[in-house]
Amino acid sequence: LQVKTAQIVAIGTELLLGHVVNTNTSFIAEKLSDLGISLYRTSVVGDNEARIVDELKDAWEKNDLIITTGGLGPTGDDVTRHAVAKFLDVNLVKDLQEEEKIKDFFVKRKTKITDNNFVQALFPEGSQLLVNSQGTASGFLCERDGKIIIALPGPPDEVRGIFKGVLDDRLRKLTIDGRRIVSRTLKFWGLGESRVDDTLNDLFITYKNPSLAYLFNRGEVFVRITALVHENDTNIADEMDEIESKILQRLGDYYFAKDGETVDSIVSSILIKKKMRLALAESCTGGMLGQRITSHAGSSEYFDGSLVTYSNQMKQNLLGISPEMINLYGAVSAECAEAMAKGVICTTGCDVSVAITGIAGPEGGTVEKPVGLVFIAIASQLRVQVHRLHFLGGRDKVRQLSVVAALHLLCDFLEDDSTC
Ligand code: ATP
Repeated sequence: LQVKTAQIVAIGTELLLGHVVNTNTSFIAEKLSDLGISLYRTSVVGDNEARIVDELKDAWEKNDLIITTGGLGPTGDDVTRHAVAKFLDVNLVKDLQEEEKIKDFFVKRKTKITDNNFVQALFPEGSQLLVNSQGTASGFLCERDGKIIIALPGPPDEVRGIFKGVLDDRLRKLTIDGRRIVSRTLKFWGLGESRVDDTLNDLFITYKNPSLAYLFNRGEVFVRITALVHENDTNIADEMDEIESKILQRLGDYYFAKDGETVDSIVSSILIKKKMRLALAESCTGGMLGQRITSHAGSSEYFDGSLVTYSNQMKQNLLGISPEMINLYGAVSAECAEAMAKGVICTTGCDVSVAITGIAGPEGGTVEKPVGLVFIAIASQLRVQVHRLHFLGGRDKVRQLSVVAALHLLCDFLEDDSTC
């Protein structure tokens, strides 16, 4: 059995209504790409058995592999297992171990089990279970005529869990022998999309395998070098090195990380290495930077907290900023940002601080201080740096770009031994 082409079928009326963003499809698509399986199409179908069966028939004709996600729950509108059984023309049969797992799940949570929960122990006859250790709805895999259909639940963490637990390995064994995709991602910050395109365009056009792709993500630019490697390809790593060094020659000043490394992980490891504690004062980002830092597991080792000082009064009360200073320069000013960063150091006794103040919009801009103007100050016991930035975009984008910029500026500050 060898799998070359695939279709993902996302199931759920809430997806069609736009209530849920179809992140499962992008997650699975990326997995298939890494495995060297060509994804020919993705589709979305509502919770309707007949329409799901139709979609499966169509996808089956054109592909070796179908992966569905969603609709494996206990309620009446969860019809994926019935649709797959109907499509394959088999019965649903009970799996006793799954039945026990479901009972156990409810006993442990001390909640009453209802009859409809047991529908999740039913699987199309002849299917193989893909155990879901995070939820009650396990997925399943059915083989027929050299093709495969896989059904996964809807919750994204459960989809990820099943891939990690069993499906990554299963699918790797099913891909064409010896063929695999290798990739590396170079990450940059501080330059715009058109600049990247302009600088790398000739490489983008020249190289086909390995090839280049760009991803622009909240102020950061990821350049991905991808190669489809056959068993007898021996020099692909050298070719990838060659492209990588060409890219770094041109954009090296903006480079900050590779592959799984992120600006968050770099900040965290420097703070740990230098044994420094960080605290923040946030105005226009309202705590978003603190949220981002604390989403990194283990942040308590270096993070004290964020003072969300949105109003002028709070800036005065919590950071000791004088009303005269705010009157003179305004709350969105280099002077105020600097005073906020110093104020955090005084109030919390931390080693390094970041302060953000800006005009996120859509109201409140003037000619001198337009919407998107943001000041970010970074202070240590030795120095203060203030940066004036101007972001374009709506309120949400300005706030998100401010958070990313603050992390990068903090990273540069921490990497410079003369500042801390
Ligand atoms: P459950 O046992 O939770 O009912 P299920 O397999 O029936 O699982 P659904 O009811 O279809 O899954 O979806 C459950 C939740 O998972 C949805 O409310 C939604 O939040 C999320 N979800 C479903 N499909 C997707 C998708 N394609 N992308 C991202 N999230 C999704």
